[in-house]
Amino acid sequence: MNNSYAKVHPFVNEKVLTYEENSLEYQELIREYDRMKSERISIPLVIGGREIHTEKKGVCVIPHDKNHVLAEFSMAGAKEAEEAIEAALEAKVKWDKIPWDERASIFMRAAALASGSYRSKLNAATMLGQSKTYRQTEIDAAAELCDFFRSNARLLHDIYANQPLSPDTHWNRVDYRPLEGFIFAVSPFNFTSIAANLAGAPAIAGNTVVWKPSSTAVYSNWIVYQLFNEAGLPDGVINFIPASSGDISDVIFQNKHLAGVHFTGSTATFNQMFRTVGENIDLYRTYPRLVGETGGKNFVVAHESANLKLLARGLRDGAFEFQGQKCSAASRAYIPVKVWPQLKEILIEDMKTVKMGDVRERDTFLGAVIDTASFNRIKGYIEAAKESDQAEIIYGGNCDDHVGYFVEPTIILTTDPHFLTMEEEIFGPVLTVYLYDQDYDELLELVDNTSQYGLTGSIFAEDRYAIVRAQEVLVNAAGNFYVNVRPTGAVVGQQPFGGARKSGTNDKAGALNNMLRWLSPRAIKEEYLK
Ligand code: NAD
Repeated sequence: MNNSYAKVHPFVNEKVLTYEENSLEYQELIREYDRMKSERISIPLVIGGREIHTEKKGVCVIPHDKNHVLAEFSMAGAKEAEEAIEAALEAKVKWDKIPWDERASIFMRAAALASGSYRSKLNAATMLGQSKTYRQTEIDAAAELCDFFRSNARLLHDIYANQPLSPDTHWNRVDYRPLEGFIFAVSPFNFTSIAANLAGAPAIAGNTVVWKPSSTAVYSNWIVYQLFNEAGLPDGVINFIPASSGDISDVIFQNKHLAGVHFTGSTATFNQMFRTVGENIDLYRTYPRLVGETGGKNFVVAHESANLKLLARGLRDGAFEFQGQKCSAASRAYIPVKVWPQLKEILIEDMKTVKMGDVRERDTFLGAVIDTASFNRIKGYIEAAKESDQAEIIYGGNCDDHVGYFVEPTIILTTDPHFLTMEEEIFGPVLTVYLYDQDYDELLELVDNTSQYGLTGSIFAEDRYAIVRAQEVLVNAAGNFYVNVRPTGAVVGQQPFGGARKSGTNDKAGALNNMLRWLSPRAIKEEYLK
């Protein structure tokens, strides 16, 4: 019998390990990396707890060693998508009835495993499959994943405790029901923890999920699936179906039980989903909740009072960590003409410390970009800059895909604040700099109106009036605004992450706003006769 009100302790961030060269954790990580690399595995779909191998296959390769195949994986078609929906609906019958603390317990156990015995597996798989350095992978695959699961448990605890007022003649209560139907979770390649949370957040709240991972992150996402399994998640609560979206989209989006979409990825993909849901709206039993965190074209604005050392460091780390493949990556910078000569010197000196290469090497700063399509797209932007008389490449600019998909960290200087690399999301290691001499307010208006996105941005200034003015004018230009620091690196519970405009629905992954989207409150009023 469960008749207590369980307490989830206030959430504390997972400690980010530093992996000193001779530390046990570093040795274990490298051992795991080498072990995984020496094997070739076969990854199934998992539907209702059943492992299924299909005819259609994809492969997981190492982006920095592109001919090395780590795994082949089965891909779902319409039939398997249908089965996954059925499995999710069947599992929901029991899952949304067990006490909430039992659900929370599974995810807290998953966090404990990710912090312990699964840590090196999650990290090594992310290094291999997504070409992250040990530093970047530890922040993502281990620490942030633990943070999401633990934070979600505490959020649920607080939500359920939130109850309405009751006068003495009646009692008012609110139930927080999971949504009626199934949730379609669609994850991007770039963060293992985001993928885990896209499937996990609706599930902890009592929903059941059909999870389609990105084809270029199946390798690490399969470890996440195994983690859910080992933590005791019942069959069918999360169904794992790698697929080409074209093969399954009709089945998913034309099912009347679609109750929500939990998406992170590009703006174009989310627009497509939004449109499809709109077109099919008469089919659904309930209005599907659409939660999408999408692209960015994140700015760094420097005021003439900026500390140039801090600014150079912010540009280097903000633009080039993980090859610029963070939605929050700095990709357009606005620098006062008069500080540029000095800043350029410091920045170029800082850039010399940025080593590109195999992420197994300890001193590598950035690895390869994710795949051929991405390599070609980024190369196209660099070529466009080379050919333009409004742009000049002042650092990097070379691309080489003989061994892996390597794009040098590249800095473009442009005279046109609307040059295409100032406006479009590139999602690679490319930073474009525009030098300004116009009035500061006018510049801030330009920053605000240059891109369709509103995800992140930084202001670097020592002058407090300049900081305040930037916060005012750029109020809708970023959902995560940074002062004197790079615009990346949001931490769960500290800087709730997400943006509006074409950067998404700004439901702040890992925060209260997001968890509320997976719940449908029911108010119950009971009256007493006096
Ligand atoms: P993507 O849009 O190409 O793919 C994301 C997912 O959607 C993948 O699983 C993909 O297979 C699937 N997909 C693609 N087309 C689809 C369709 N028509 N129907 C259904 N599913 C479809 O994005 P990506 O390359 O994996 O990730 C990079 C993008 O993600 C960038 O734009 C980046 O800014 C964004 N991102 C945003 C955040 C954020 O929090 N705002 C975080 C990470 C990444």
